[in-house]
Amino acid sequence: RSTVFATIQRQVMATTIPPLRSRRVAVIGAGAAGLVAARELRREGHRVVVFERGDQVGGTWVYTSEVESDPIGIDPNRAVVHSSLYQSLRTNLPREVMGFRDYPFVRREVKGRDSRRFPGHKEVLMYLQDFTSAFEIAELVRFESEVVFAGLAESGKWRVRSITKGGVTVDEIYDAVVVCNGHYTQPHIADIPGITAWPGKQMHGHNYRTPDPFRDQVVVLIGNAASAVDISRDIATVAKEVHIAARSVEDNKLGKLPGHDNMWLHSMIDSALEDGRVVFRGGNAVCADVILHCTGYKYNFPFLQTDGTITVEDNCVGPLYKHVFPPELAPWLSFVGLPWKVVPFPLCEHQSKWIAGILSNRIALPSKEEMVEDVKAFYSSLEAFGIPKRYAHNIGPVQWDYNDWIADQCGFPVIEEWRKEMYKAASKNRTIRPESYRDEWEDHELILQAQEDFSNTAS
Ligand code: FAD
Repeated sequence: RSTVFATIQRQVMATTIPPLRSRRVAVIGAGAAGLVAARELRREGHRVVVFERGDQVGGTWVYTSEVESDPIGIDPNRAVVHSSLYQSLRTNLPREVMGFRDYPFVRREVKGRDSRRFPGHKEVLMYLQDFTSAFEIAELVRFESEVVFAGLAESGKWRVRSITKGGVTVDEIYDAVVVCNGHYTQPHIADIPGITAWPGKQMHGHNYRTPDPFRDQVVVLIGNAASAVDISRDIATVAKEVHIAARSVEDNKLGKLPGHDNMWLHSMIDSALEDGRVVFRGGNAVCADVILHCTGYKYNFPFLQTDGTITVEDNCVGPLYKHVFPPELAPWLSFVGLPWKVVPFPLCEHQSKWIAGILSNRIALPSKEEMVEDVKAFYSSLEAFGIPKRYAHNIGPVQWDYNDWIADQCGFPVIEEWRKEMYKAASKNRTIRPESYRDEWEDHELILQAQEDFSNTAS
């Protein structure tokens, strides 16, 4: 009897835990998401090729003074510049919070490095370069190779077509594709009644680099997210006037900004007029030289061919199970880094571990039907709360639960308590000290906890 039992047990084991598999995986993009995806996929035993259209790793963090020919980025024939960084950019997260979980973003007290807690963009690029070297990821990357097509091949596998800078087309078949192409490149523009007759200049924050072109100008800047706040302050150092048009500002905050003699806060723009005036809701108007749209970005996957299985509607990429897998094509197609208002590096790290474990059969995904139901329930909950679909990937308020859920799937420790607390403290500090939060803070105790944790990671 015991032999029969052992045989049955072996059969059950064989059906419920399929053997681990190594897949051939194409990763599109070598920014933070693609780098950590490549590391996790290789760690899991997959064979990975990372396609990167640029000539180095780092994605967004590769600053360039270059801008696009169309300053608002709507000309489909313009040559695309990937990064949206401006010269003065410093991180809006403390480095302890921002870094990958098992490769902390610690200070390097050496010449040429920026040891500030909220460092400039170059330091982030150097950190990503260090990460690439530490895990020998560059050997997986094909630089100057742009993916122009990724779609299902007849075999049920994925065809990936790329073009090198020299114009050579390469056509290949992969088991799986992981999309890591970033989502801060394709500008979203505000809709302004009357704008076509307005005689001024328009630009999107994507093409903002330095304040110099705005010297002595009257600028209307639309937006109040992190980069809008930075850019308005940057421009105010040289401009005649900066008028910020922002959604959801309390009435008592409208008017001149305290501490600045040439900045005003307004409600949203009502219209732009032929005589050069920009009219705000409530009736105020200014005669402006420039309207600067700091109004966010659109998801864009020009290379992806899924015959309508995946769509971007109202800037919601879907249907996606947990913002990663399209139920219909899972696990062979996945997306890393779509959520916003989050701490991106650790989030990408979690998603990548999950994808890698699922592709090898170490971690199980629910059935297609269950995933479809989950996505439906998610969309219904957005609707029930009156949240437009374009906020579907804004998971800020639940990002830690989200990370912890994935960590649990992967058998990885949940997010450190200090990281959550520090994120909260940094957000609060930014509200209290919008001008100086990067250089003044009070969460010293949390910094010590993080450093203690990092010293354990290193040992
Ligand atoms: P990206 O870094 O954009 O990388 C995508 C890569 O894909 C690029 O290298 C691109 O060349 C490549 N690619 C695209 N299409 C193709 C193709 N078809 N073929 C081949 N390669 C392709 N995050 C923080 O944590 N802290 C901050 O302080 C912070 N500040 C920010 C400030 C600004 C102005 C912006 C825009 C973003 C900021 N972020 C910040 C978010 C930042 O985007 C993420 O930190 C992170 O860089 C996202 O990485 P990613 O790999 O998803 O995308």
